[in-house]
Amino acid sequence: MDKIKASMPQLGNYSTPMEVLFTAGFGVEYIVPPPITKKTLALGSRYSPDYVCAPFKYNLGNYIETIEAGANTLVQTDGVCRLGYYGELHEQILRDLGYKVQFVNMAKFQDPKPIKFYKGFKEINPDLSLKKLAKIIPVVLKMIEYIDEAEDFIRKNIGFEREIGTFDKVHADFLNDLRPVRDQKELKNTYRNYMKTFQEIEIKKPRHPLKVGIIGEFYTIMEPFSNYYIEKELAQMGIVVDRWLNVSNTLLHYPKKQIEVHIEDYAKYQMGATSMATIDRALDFAKKGYDGIIHVKSFGCTPEIDAIPALQNISNDYKIPILYFSFDTQTSETGFNTRLEAFYDMIIMRKETKK
Ligand code: SF4
Repeated sequence: MDKIKASMPQLGNYSTPMEVLFTAGFGVEYIVPPPITKKTLALGSRYSPDYVCAPFKYNLGNYIETIEAGANTLVQTDGVCRLGYYGELHEQILRDLGYKVQFVNMAKFQDPKPIKFYKGFKEINPDLSLKKLAKIIPVVLKMIEYIDEAEDFIRKNIGFEREIGTFDKVHADFLNDLRPVRDQKELKNTYRNYMKTFQEIEIKKPRHPLKVGIIGEFYTIMEPFSNYYIEKELAQMGIVVDRWLNVSNTLLHYPKKQIEVHIEDYAKYQMGATSMATIDRALDFAKKGYDGIIHVKSFGCTPEIDAIPALQNISNDYKIPILYFSFDTQTSETGFNTRLEAFYDMIIMRKETKK
């Protein structure tokens, strides 16, 4: 059998812990997906049904590019929306295109019993060592948390760095230095050292900066290419960007009960995917007196569409402006920039008049 070269679609900077999981845990080579570009999206869109949401198209583009980069084993996760069905469709499309790859659809193995999940891992590498996997999983989970914590700090400060590009440079070094990490102690040290470096970066933050909270759909919010690098754009306007939604908060430590209680005046029934967290965070940003909220989602994302009436109620009750962006393969970049600039002008004027 050929050497196993596995890959899975890109999402933000989580390729780094995934590389550690696949190499040290599953014992296979990991093909890091090439950075997402317009070509990725064009490839994914060309072979996708028109009506599917953008994450499907990005994932398909990722698969084709990773196959071209040498991957022979592709993994798709499960999801709490129609993402759960996407693996089957991706596999079929890749087969129809003539790609002869092993496709591991983790949706088939979703079960409360870990043993079933383990069967999915065995499809990635039938010879994997349970001992090695058990040893590396806590490191991978902690690495995800550390990346999320570091990026939360960056979002809130990068817009005020004295020397443009410093945060990005340290961030890239941080991710690179995480790649060879294989134990908790080394992980903790790397994280601590880099957090210290991040905190030492010289910034010039006003006493009351503009604050904008980002809410929305899982993929679009976390994959910057798919939201036209909205967080970077806001930071360049000198705004503190706050975003709660990440893998740690949603998949590792999701506070389900707390959210249900917090938003009971706005939503009583679960509407799927990230919709409840979207409402919860909007309410939290509103209560904290943020200057504005931006809701991002993929075009046609039903759970996030369902959340919009609740967001409008929050906006009315707390007098906080919410800007809604729906991204698809056809979204105009000029239109996006114009709306973002208009939103910025509006929130800055509101702040001035409140003084
Ligand atoms: S949450 Fe929405 S955009 Fe994301 S995969 Fe599900 S339906 Fe698609």
